[in-house]
Amino acid sequence: MKSVSDKKVAVIGAGLAGLSAAITLQDAGCEVDVYESSDRVGGRVATDLIDGYRLDRGFQLINSRYPELLRLDVVRELNFVEASRSVDVCLDEAIVTLGDPRENPFAALNSATGSIFTKLRFIGYLTSTSKQGRSVEDELSQYGDLYQRVLKPFLSGVFLTSPANVDAVSGKEIVRSFISGKPGLPAHGAGELPKALAQRVRSIHLNTRIDSLDGLKADAVIVAADLTTAAQLLDIPNVPKLASSTTWYHEVPIEMTLSNRLLIDGQSRGPVINSIAISNMVPSYAPIRKTLLSSTTIEFASESEVRRHLAIMWGVSTSEWALIAKYEIPKSLPIFGLGKQGIQSAKVSENLFVAGDYRTAPSQNGALLSGRLAAQELLLN
Ligand SMILES: Cc1cc2nc3c(=O)[nH]c(=O)nc-3n(C[C@H](O)[C@H](O)[C@H](O)COP(=O)(O)OP(=O)(O)OC[C@H]3O[C@@H](n4cnc5c(N)ncnc54)[C@H](O)[C@@H]3O)c2cc1C
Repeated sequence: MKSVSDKKVAVIGAGLAGLSAAITLQDAGCEVDVYESSDRVGGRVATDLIDGYRLDRGFQLINSRYPELLRLDVVRELNFVEASRSVDVCLDEAIVTLGDPRENPFAALNSATGSIFTKLRFIGYLTSTSKQGRSVEDELSQYGDLYQRVLKPFLSGVFLTSPANVDAVSGKEIVRSFISGKPGLPAHGAGELPKALAQRVRSIHLNTRIDSLDGLKADAVIVAADLTTAAQLLDIPNVPKLASSTTWYHEVPIEMTLSNRLLIDGQSRGPVINSIAISNMVPSYAPIRKTLLSSTTIEFASESEVRRHLAIMWGVSTSEWALIAKYEIPKSLPIFGLGKQGIQSAKVSENLFVAGDYRTAPSQNGALLSGRLAAQELLLN
C-alpha cells in the first residue's frame, strides 16, 4: 500500500473547492495535478477587466471572516477593501440605512423597518436552533415589516432565490455568517482570491477538460467540477436545483450617489434585488471620475424593466446611463431546499471523491470547506 506522500492525485476543476482540495493534499505531501477546462482558475469567482472597469462575473462579496479563509490566511494577500456593514432600504420616497449599530447607531430605531422590539427579538432567531423541515421564510415571517421590507429582499440577494425555498437549518448558517462577518472585495476584483490560492498549487493544467475518469494517471481522483458536470461524470442522481442570476453593470453619472452601501427595495417594486455603486466601495472598479453601478436580478427581466426599477430605487433618471456589461449566470448557486442539509461523505467509491459548494453550503466558504474535507477523507482512505 502506498504511503500518503507517494500518492498521485488528480483534481478536476480549479474553482475554490478544487484549489482548496489541492492545497490540502499538497500540504500532506501528495503529488497533485489540477485539471481545469477553462483558461483561468476560480470557476464562479472571476473578474474581467473591460475598458478600465473591473467586472466580477456576478456580484459577490467575500467574507474575510469565513473560517476557511482564516485557515488559509489568504486575505492579507488580496489588498482587501471592507464593505459597509449597513444596507440602505428604499421605502416610498425615502432611503433608510440599517445594519451594524456601530456604523449607524440610530438606524435601528427607525420604525419603518420594524419596531425596536422586533429587532431585539430577531437576535433571538440568530442564537436559536432551527427546526428541520421548515424554510427560512417560515421562521422569519413572524418578524413582520423587518422580514418583508429588509430581510426578505436582502436574503433573496444572498440565496439568489426566495427564502421560502431555502432550508431553515442550512439557511441560518449563511444568515449568521453575514451578520457576524466582515465582507469586502479585493481591490482588483473577486477573482484575486482564487488567483492567490492558485499560486500555492504546483501543477494546474488550464484548458484541459476531463470528459471521462478513465485514463487519468492517478491513484485517486477528486471531482471538484460544477454540479452538472460532476453529476454526468459520476452518475449522481437527485441533484439539487440551481438558482440563476443576472448582474447588470451601468456607468452612471458621478454625482448620482456617494453611497458605498448596498441598496435594496423594501417594497419589491421590480426585478432588481440589490444595487450598489461598487466603485464607491472599491474605487479601482472604475476609471477615474466614473461610477460603476452593479445591480442583480434573479427573474428574467429586460434592460428597460431593470432601468425603470433602478430609477425608483435610486430616485434618479437613468437616461444618461450606459450599459457596460450584463452577466447571465444560469447556474449561480445550489438551492439547499427543505430538508437538504450540507456536509455528507465525499467518498463516491474507492479512491474517488467529490467536492463542490453543493456538498456543504452555497458559498465560497462552503466550496473551500468541501474541497478540504474531500482531501482529508482521501488522506484517511
Ligand atoms: C452571482 C453569484 C454570487 C455569489 N455570491 C456569493 C457571496 O456573496 N458570498 C459567497 O460566499 N458566495 C457567493 N457565491 C457562491 C460562490 O461563488 C460559489 O459557491 C463558489 O465559488 C463555488 O465554487 P466551486 O469550486 O464549488 O465551483 P465552481 O466555481 O463552479 O468551480 C468548478 C470548476 O470546475 C471546472 N470544470 C467544470 N467541468 C470540468 C471538466 N469537465 N474538466 C475540468 N474542469 C471542469 C469549471 O470550469 C470551474 O472552474 C456567489 C456565486 C455567484 C455565481
